[in-house]
Parts: sequence; C-alpha cells; structure tokens
Amino acid sequence: MYIKAKKSLGQNFLIDRNILEQIVDTVDVANKEILEIGPGSGNLTTYILKKNPKKIHVIEKDNDLALLLKEKFNNEIHIINDDVLKISENDISDEKLTVFGNLPYNISTEILSKWIINLSKNFWFENLVLMFQKEVADRIVAQCNTSKYGRLSILSNWKLNIKKIIDIKPESFSPRPKIDSSLLLFTPRLNFFEIDSAKNLEMITRIFFSQRRKMLKKPFNQIFKDSKKVSEKFDIDLNLRPQNLEPDVYFNLVKEYESLRG
Ligand code: SAH
Repeated sequence: MYIKAKKSLGQNFLIDRNILEQIVDTVDVANKEILEIGPGSGNLTTYILKKNPKKIHVIEKDNDLALLLKEKFNNEIHIINDDVLKISENDISDEKLTVFGNLPYNISTEILSKWIINLSKNFWFENLVLMFQKEVADRIVAQCNTSKYGRLSILSNWKLNIKKIIDIKPESFSPRPKIDSSLLLFTPRLNFFEIDSAKNLEMITRIFFSQRRKMLKKPFNQIFKDSKKVSEKFDIDLNLRPQNLEPDVYFNLVKEYESLRG
C-alpha cells in the first residue's frame, strides 16, 4: 500500500537499516513487553519483532496507518489506534514496559513532560528509547553551567537518568526532516526527589530561566520573602546565574518553597 506522509502528524519514517538495527540494540528486547509510540508503517516494529519480545503494544493515531499495521502484522502486535497524549500510560500493562518511539517532533517534549510529571515510584517502564529533534535532545541532556541547560534538563533529571545514544541525519528518514535527530535512552531514577507538586517545579524554574542572564538575587526575591535566609540555608551565592545551579538545588528550593507555604 502506498502511504503519503502526513505533515500534521509529524510523519518522517525511518528507512535506514543500520539505524533501525542500532535503535533496537540499545536495550534488551528478548522476552520483554514492548510499547512503541507512533509505529507508522511498522519499520521499527519489524526490527523489534525479530528480537523475540514477549509482546508488543503500539499506539498510532493515524487511522490509515493503524489499518495498514493490522494487515501487515495481524495478531503479532496489539494496536491501540489513539492519541498517545490521551492514553494513560500506567494502564497499558501490569508489566514494566520497554518503550520505543520515533516521536512526532511537534509533540515530543509534551509527551516526555507528561510522562515525567505523572510518574510515580513504581515506574511503569524499564527503559525509554526515544527520538528527538537534536536541538531538543541537546537541551534534555545539557549539564549545569552550559548554555543549553535549562528547564527541560532539570525536569528530565528529576526522575530519569539520561544517555545520548546516537545522532541521526535527515537522510535516514523519508520524507527527510529539515533537522538532525538524536536518540536518547532514559532509565528510572529510582530514588527521585519528592516534592508536593510538579507545578511548583515548573513555576519556580520558569521564574529563574525567564531571566537566565540575571543574577539569582532577582528571582530569589520574587519567590522567597526572606531570600537571604533561604540562600544561606542551601549555601547559594546569589551573584551566580540560574544555569549555575545543579538540578538537585532546584528540587531543594521547590521543597523549601512548599514547606514555607505550609
Ligand atoms: N516510527 C515510525 C514513524 C515515525 S513518524 C518510523 O520510524 O518509521 C511519527 C509517527 O507518530 C507517525 O506514524 C504518526 O502518525 C504518529 N503520531 C503522530 N502523532 C501521534 C499521536 N499524538 N499519538 C500517536 N501517534 C502519533
């Protein structure tokens, strides 16, 4: 069947065999329960199946592609013809999933943020192997004290360990995207920092990073009544800039904010 890629659904299908091979080899697949997001025409699905998984669930929003997948794989895979943003990831299986996703670039950060925010300490996955636009991947993996470090790095570091696997050129896709891509591997950070509400983390990092060139004094005064006391408690030099604080410092500040507000 001929399929015309739909731009609105971010359809760039992977066609490079070496890359498809490398993606499935990132983690153990044999006997694992797999979730694939946006399988498209099933290129990656075929490579996953070759590695003898226990079961594969796929979530594909495009009705035409869902039909095509049904024809191609019959009962070999469980097809969920729905929007990944509407599915509650905790309900897909009782087993911990290994997740693959050549995600549609326009919603990749939204998917990742939603998963992180909803994530409880009984992680619903073992690994996430996800493709991002390179520029977004660079922000996710960015270390403290670098220019790309920011809200997305802090949020991702909160509950996940992150590793870059490979960069992928536009030629590996059809149609070719205009940008480079990167594949990231995420694993659970089992003892992640507990805060009352992810909203407070989002709010506090927004205040800091909307003025990323300013010294910490200003956002501190906006967030805390007695900013001197808080900065002394955590030994923070208020002449530094937001990018100089490690993720854990932000989590401590959120906790402090929550306890001061009682
Ligand atoms: N994984 C395939 C296709 C990647 S393109 C490959 O590598 O060849 C992205 C895929 O995500 C497309 O199949 C697109 O239809 C699907 N998609 C886009 N938005 C989606 C959403 N909200 N929920 C589920 N799937 C989505």
